[in-house]
Amino acid sequence: MFMAHMGKRPAISTNNLLMNSHTDVVPVEPSTVSSWVHPPYSGHYDGTYLWGRGTCDDKADLISIMIAVDSLLKQGFQPRRTLVLAFGIDEESAGVQGAGHIAKHLEEAYGRGSFALILDEGEPFSTPYGGNVVFANPYVTEKGYFDLRIEVSTPGGHSSIPPPHTAIGILALAIAELEAHPHQPQLLRNGTFFQEVQCAAAHGPHVSTEFRKLAKAAIDDDTALERLTKLLLEHIPMSVAKLATTQAVDLISGGVKVNALPERAYAVVNHRIAEQSSVAALQGRIAEIISTVAERHDLTLNAFGRTVFTGSNGCVSLSDAFDTALEPAPVTPTRDSPAYALLAGTIVAALRGSHNVSDVVVQPTYALGNTDTQFYWNLSRNIFRYAHVPADAYYNSLHTINEAIKPTALVEKIGFLTMLVLNWDESSMF
Ligand SMILES: [Zn+2]
Repeated sequence: MFMAHMGKRPAISTNNLLMNSHTDVVPVEPSTVSSWVHPPYSGHYDGTYLWGRGTCDDKADLISIMIAVDSLLKQGFQPRRTLVLAFGIDEESAGVQGAGHIAKHLEEAYGRGSFALILDEGEPFSTPYGGNVVFANPYVTEKGYFDLRIEVSTPGGHSSIPPPHTAIGILALAIAELEAHPHQPQLLRNGTFFQEVQCAAAHGPHVSTEFRKLAKAAIDDDTALERLTKLLLEHIPMSVAKLATTQAVDLISGGVKVNALPERAYAVVNHRIAEQSSVAALQGRIAEIISTVAERHDLTLNAFGRTVFTGSNGCVSLSDAFDTALEPAPVTPTRDSPAYALLAGTIVAALRGSHNVSDVVVQPTYALGNTDTQFYWNLSRNIFRYAHVPADAYYNSLHTINEAIKPTALVEKIGFLTMLVLNWDESSMF
């Protein structure tokens, strides 16, 4: 679903604003229903929290966007520019039917690059380094995505006369080979995570002196960069996901009966592709690693539509399991960027006005998952994923039991979104 409020000057086609959220939710695992403090579809308000699946992801954005815009219009607000609200219906299952179609329509109606800024769901703000300094973390890029299918086909037969390795055995060897070659974490000076680390070191009140010094030295000293990478990996376990492509073997299947040699076995390996890599680079690396197994067992290797070599004992095929390959998202510029200045300035103004904080730091960061914005790359260079709510507004987390949010946080979000719309429409920067 999408709604557009045409501006008074719709002829100017590069300064539109798009605010996105999604209406779908992840399911509730039936066996966990009894673990909820209040039932997952009750919408119960207990005086502090509003309970239910979707309250945090992503109804908070959906409701806040609608209330902010509705109340502006009721007060006679007439934007000079065109404001678009888009609500996906299947973000939790890839977004093709919702945002996928909305994106096509918006590109036809408004053109490529027609949005000055796109805002979608993201992280809440918090005080991770103490000292009452609030860090707000808009995501400026997202990791890429690739599900690898490894399929091994070998001749069948009776299990009483088996070859040394069945299709399942060879598949297991291929998986072991992949896991023996994890992607190496790399902290790149031109990468988003390096900038995030620099920002924490410069503005985090209670970061260690060692971290602060290393981060500063790492700007032009390679040894310091190496030590900083080690420090991050040791102390922040999730750093590895920000520094490297990750791989997780998630599905496996093969064989039909215990006295029949399996003629086919397959596994699916989920990958989240690092900012510095690409789908093609990842596929090339996988083909190289698996080729050693295929060659050793005299199997034909078909890698992503190309026959790498021919063997006589069967075949290993590598493919995109569900045709869902996605490149890492283009990095939204933050230097000399009017859109970033607009967003960051609005965040700072909103937080200084509503919280008793000593400082506000806007720290661009890197999303490990994907949002509906994966369809919006053609519409704007300035895509931000950010939730203007305090982290403690959530009772628990997203996608799990006890999803609940403090409605006071929604009031704050509505205030922020209202300010963003007004600042965008008044700004002379676009
Ligand atoms: Zn979501």
